[in-house]
Amino acid sequence: MAEQNNGAKEKVLFGSDKNPTNIEPEKLTLDSKIQFRCHPGVSCFTACCGNINIVLTPYDILCLRKRIGIDSDEFLLRYTKPFYLEKTDMPGVQIHLTAEGRCPFVTDEGCLVYTDRPSACRYYPIGMAHFHERPDDPNEAGEESEKFFFKVKESYCKGHEEDKHWTVREWRADQGIDFRDEINKPWMELVMRRKSFGYQATLSEQAQKIFFMASTNLEKFRDFVFKSSFLDTYEVDQETLEKIKNDDIELLKFSYKYLASSLFGTNDLKIKDKKIQAKIAQMKEKQNGAEANAEQTYNELKKDRDELQKTLAGQKNK
Ligand code: SF4
Ligand code: SF4
Repeated sequence: MAEQNNGAKEKVLFGSDKNPTNIEPEKLTLDSKIQFRCHPGVSCFTACCGNINIVLTPYDILCLRKRIGIDSDEFLLRYTKPFYLEKTDMPGVQIHLTAEGRCPFVTDEGCLVYTDRPSACRYYPIGMAHFHERPDDPNEAGEESEKFFFKVKESYCKGHEEDKHWTVREWRADQGIDFRDEINKPWMELVMRRKSFGYQATLSEQAQKIFFMASTNLEKFRDFVFKSSFLDTYEVDQETLEKIKNDDIELLKFSYKYLASSLFGTNDLKIKDKKIQAKIAQMKEKQNGAEANAEQTYNELKKDRDELQKTLAGQKNK
């Protein structure tokens, strides 16, 4: 189905709580049967590639900008717009629709970037939700038994009337979703984890900038690793360094580890001992300074109090 277009009407990347009116109230498993086919012969062909929010994962951005042959800066500028990832203060990007509300990659013939289309487009019309996920522990999240699937059914989508039957598993394999899910998983878990905090705690501006840079611009993240004091701060073995120098997928995976440890304090990346010692020394120095200040303030107050007492005693004796 190389020429087929499976545009996503709804973003389904972060679960089922968006626009439930289009979601069929039936939990599906990998073995559930679905009836669906999308191909250039359907009367609605490309109807779903407009008036939509297509959230881009870091891997989507990598694939799309390579497909088009431009760097991340240019891709972000030309094809995306920023927004906050669902119910979080984490900045992300979605595809910037044309003035007519259409995806910039859609033509009458179909999707121009079909083999590199984003995950959200591949999912449609089968969304996935993690119901019993434990966002407090990213290592526990996303177990197979805790997932379920659901069908998104738009009234204009004629694909549901086509005589083609699949299991959800077959559909996902056909769309190349499993492979992408595996790559996207650690990043999705970061977002889900942050989402579970609600708005009680906010990310600092610096943390937001770092999340955005690592999630959207691998070239900048690579410079950050190799051209800043990053390697003075974190322990990164030689083998990993060799891998991430030239391999974008490895760098992507490394960026997820960095984000997990810097945003949530996981042990994915270890800070060098000498940095920790330096920080401790700095904090001690600060504390000593504060103690010295406190002692000085105490002595001054004591002196004031003694003088006041002396004055009062003098007045009494008169
Ligand atoms: S990327 Fe392709 S499949 Fe997705 S909305 Fe755009 S044209 Fe449609
Ligand atoms: S059948 Fe559905 S998915 Fe395919 S083009 Fe039509 S609206 Fe889009």
